[in-house]
This record gives sequence, C-alpha cells and structure tokens, in this order.
Amino acid sequence: AIYSKDIRELPKELNDIALIYSRKIEREMRRMELEEENFRIRAQLQELSITDTLTSLYNRRYFGKVCSDIFAQVKRNSTKAVLAYIDIDNFKTINDKFGHEGGDFVLKYFAEILTEQSRKGLDYLFRLGGEEFCVISLDTPISDSYEHMRRIMNTTSTKFKVTKFGEITLSIGIVEFEEKFNSYDEILNLADKKMYEAKKSGKNAIVK
Ligand code: GH3
Ligand code: MG
Ligand code: MG
Repeated sequence: AIYSKDIRELPKELNDIALIYSRKIEREMRRMELEEENFRIRAQLQELSITDTLTSLYNRRYFGKVCSDIFAQVKRNSTKAVLAYIDIDNFKTINDKFGHEGGDFVLKYFAEILTEQSRKGLDYLFRLGGEEFCVISLDTPISDSYEHMRRIMNTTSTKFKVTKFGEITLSIGIVEFEEKFNSYDEILNLADKKMYEAKKSGKNAIVK
C-alpha cells in the first residue's frame, strides 16, 4: 500500500495492524531524536564543565584531572611532560588603571596569544584563576618548553606594547614531570615556587 502508486483500500485487519506499527515506528523515531539531543546536551555540559568561561581555555577543575592522568603515564614511563606556571606581572595596576573590564580584556587577549603560540593536541592550556595560567606540554624536553615560554613572553610584550595597556610581562616557573614526585600536587607546588623565584628576581623572568 505504501509503495504502490494507486491508493488502495486495505482490508480492515491489515489497516489496523499497519496503524499500530506506524505508531510504534513514530514513537521509536521520536525516542531516537531525544536520545541524540540528550547526547548533544551532555557533550555541551561536559565541554562547559572543563572550560574557563572568560578565556575559553581549560579550567582549574580539568587541570587536576589532566595532571593526574599525565602523572600516571609518567610513572609508567610511557610519557614525558613539562608544566609551566605563568603569572602576569603587576596585573593589579591594569585593573586599577583600566577597570575590571580592561583587566578581563587583557586576560582574554593573553589567552589568545597563548593559544596561537602553542601546539594543538600537545600543549594543554589552563587558566587556573585570576591572572594565573598553566601550560602542560607532552613529549617535550624542558629546554623546548623554555623556548616556548620565551616566545610567549616576546609575543605578549610586542603585541601589548601597541595597545593602550602597554607592555605586559610574565613571571614563569617550569618543572618537569618526574617519577620521583609522589603526586602532581608536588609538581604544581614546585612550579609555583619557581614562578615566585622569578618574581623575586625582579619579574619578567623564567626559572626552571
Ligand atoms: P605580581 O606582579 O606580584 O603578580 O602582582 P599582581 O598585581 O599581578 O598580582 P596580585 O595577586 O597582587 O593581583 C592580582 C589581581 O588580579 C587582583 C585581582 O583583583 C585581579 N583579578 C583576579 N581575577 C580576576 C578576573 O577574573 N578579572 C580581572 N579583571 N581581574 C582579576
Ligand atoms: Mg597571581
Ligand atoms: Mg600577577
């Protein structure tokens, strides 16, 4: 009846059966649509839960997960990784001079520079909060991470110099993921300590 061109009357029982099945198919199709929508929403939620809303980089929550996964791989000797802890220098004066919105703009623009100067799939980029950022680079020796950070410092300085905000400098601590650490917290603390040493040395510096 469906495929024939001429409209044919079906016997009553067949007609009833066809009706029942067409309703079943309709319900099944609706169920599949809802399932697809559910899947899409769940993927969006997942994306949101690991993203920093201001910069679209990964957030602090996801940082813990990535760190512990990479640390487990390093313990198994199956990967090498480095962590660079970046703090923008004198950020408070930017907020004071240009307001919180100006500060937010600087954070967003810096995140763009960080993204453009990094390798997709090998460098994980995080905003840990405030004006603090972190880059975890897979399969990267510390010397390469150092060069990477130098490039980020130079590009940040050059690009901001021509804006109303003026030059922006960074203090950075770099630490390699090593088996000797007991947890990734130790790595983060050490990187933070090195970043602080960079501050004490007069800022605009990298300590590794
Ligand atoms: P230092 O060179 O020693 O790092 O000094 P600093 O001024 O960069 O650092 P400090 O920790 O004194 O100040 C950080 C400021 O960042 C203080 C806070 O108001 C501001 N801040 C934190 N989160 C945000 C944010 O999401 N947006 C903006 N605009 N400012 C923020
Ligand atoms: Mg800070
Ligand atoms: Mg700072």
